[in-house]
Amino acid sequence: MPAQTRLFLCLKDNFGVLLHDPGSGATAAIDAPEAAPVEAALKATGWRLTDILVTHHHHDHTGGIEELKERHGCRVVAPDAEADGIPEVDETVSENDTVKVGGLEGRVIETPGHTAGHISYFFPADKLAFVGDTLFSIGCGRVIEGTPPMMWQSLLKLRELPDDTRVYCGHEYTRANIRFARTIEPLNTRLAAREKEVERLLAEGKPTIPSLMRDEKAANPFLRADVPEVAKSLGLAGQPAAQVFAEIRARKNNF
Ligand SMILES: [Zn+2]
Repeated sequence: MPAQTRLFLCLKDNFGVLLHDPGSGATAAIDAPEAAPVEAALKATGWRLTDILVTHHHHDHTGGIEELKERHGCRVVAPDAEADGIPEVDETVSENDTVKVGGLEGRVIETPGHTAGHISYFFPADKLAFVGDTLFSIGCGRVIEGTPPMMWQSLLKLRELPDDTRVYCGHEYTRANIRFARTIEPLNTRLAAREKEVERLLAEGKPTIPSLMRDEKAANPFLRADVPEVAKSLGLAGQPAAQVFAEIRARKNNF
């Protein structure tokens, strides 16, 4: 049976998401920004929380863990490299490890850059990717603990996922990301199409994610640092992609 998901907002602009295996009844929260919205989503669905899969140690992704664990006794899975900074960890994982949520099988992809030990989770059977603060729709996370080349490599790993992968990220930043992306590729018609879709979703009060990897590849400038026209538009024709990426990230920081 295919996995089911439930998406909801937490804190100011964080996304919370539940991943549910209808076969076994297992349910994972991907990150736990705060407990109350997770509880509300559990109540609305009737699902029972069995696992929390953590992407990175930032408090706006881990603040609800202790309360949820106390109430549900759920297993907490976290990146090996950041386990010391995350409460109540039961199991640590690293590159290519398998994480089971009931009968669902996910794969760990190390995606450092935003934090030094950030990981993403990919569930190939359902083509679901939970990418935390590494990749946003039409954007990417700030490079806080890593370096731009490290972040670029992480994004390249995510870019290899199938085109029809549904991408769940950690924040609702899409509109602002699009405004910036237009300064990099003003003539990108796929970006214009995504903008239209996003404005419609927001006008309807809906989240702009999940997005499809196909659309991110076509319109997200941070996944397009190796596209010659993008390098050219930045005055960096012929330069290494990691350098082009660093320039795009620097411009976004000052946008
Ligand atoms: Zn973060």
